[in-house]
Amino acid sequence: MVSKIPPGSSVLPRMGIYRLASGFRQLSTSYAAKFALAAFVGTLSPLVVFIIYLLFARSDWAGMYPIIVALMLACFMGFLGTLWLLRELLVPIDLTAEALRNYIDSRAIPDLPVHFPDRAGRLMEGTQYTLTQLHETINRLERVSDTDDLTGIYNRRAGDKRLTEEIARAERDLQGFQIAFFDINDFKKINDAHGHTAGDACISHVAALLQLNTRRGDWVARWGGDEFVVGLHRNRALKMVMDRIVKAISTSPCEIEPGKEINVAVSVGVAEYRFGMGAAGVLAEADKAMYIAKEEFRKDRQSHICYWNEVSAGRPQPPHAAAAD
Ligand code: GH3
Ligand code: MG
Repeated sequence: MVSKIPPGSSVLPRMGIYRLASGFRQLSTSYAAKFALAAFVGTLSPLVVFIIYLLFARSDWAGMYPIIVALMLACFMGFLGTLWLLRELLVPIDLTAEALRNYIDSRAIPDLPVHFPDRAGRLMEGTQYTLTQLHETINRLERVSDTDDLTGIYNRRAGDKRLTEEIARAERDLQGFQIAFFDINDFKKINDAHGHTAGDACISHVAALLQLNTRRGDWVARWGGDEFVVGLHRNRALKMVMDRIVKAISTSPCEIEPGKEINVAVSVGVAEYRFGMGAAGVLAEADKAMYIAKEEFRKDRQSHICYWNEVSAGRPQPPHAAAAD
């Protein structure tokens, strides 16, 4: 529920002079102007008192002119000096405001000094400490919310984010990339025959092999139960990389309990990103290609890779498992 009390109400009574100064249109938007008022009051008061004294106590005005002019000049110089000093003393406040704004805009950690013991120093120290702690907490939460509990790789949320970034980069630089959609074959049967712990071990096994066989810049995310999406970033030797991944999965049995291993087969659909198709478009093509690979699996019980651009160009798919040789 949104509070009906305007923010800051509890501290307004402590800000009487500040509020009074803010009531003047010329002073309301400028903190420096408020300091100019303070400098003016401080340096002009002695002059006013002196002139009042002259008005009542002296009659030889003419002889006093040089002194009055000198005093006015001295007051003016004092005013400028006070103004300059106050402006300089305001720098910690400016830096603190800048640090907060920068953090909100670009998550930049501030570099404020923390060893000044007065109020402005405490403000900088407090801001530095708070933003550093906040940054660490946000990073920790992001890591937790981007990680799949079972496998430790990206979860779907993080995969979606990576895909969005990949698309933005591809559309900006007019560079393509590919995604590969992996689904473990007959995974329910593994769960049914060996139990869910064995199923979990297979999911972790495939995740580890995917990570092991992709390059820096590529990314791997668990998309759902037994599904994974791999982003292949600027990969020229795409087929070689895909064959290597699927071969690694097909030829490395998963140890589901000590001394007991089972083979895992996958179906993979690969799609190339084209300008303007969006995340849903490229995922849909990879998914359709994966289903074609799955049909091949039903025939020969082998892992298959299907490339959507070849399907849409009418090229036949390889009749045998892509990487079982
Ligand atoms: P297909 O070859 O057509 O892909 O058949 P499948 O048996 O692999 O079917 P599907 O991919 O639809 O099944 C996914 C199953 O994965 C359904 C669900 O019971 C199981 N599952 C989902 N998440 C987990 C998990 O975290 N651990 C385990 N052990 N099983 C899971
Ligand atoms: Mg499956």
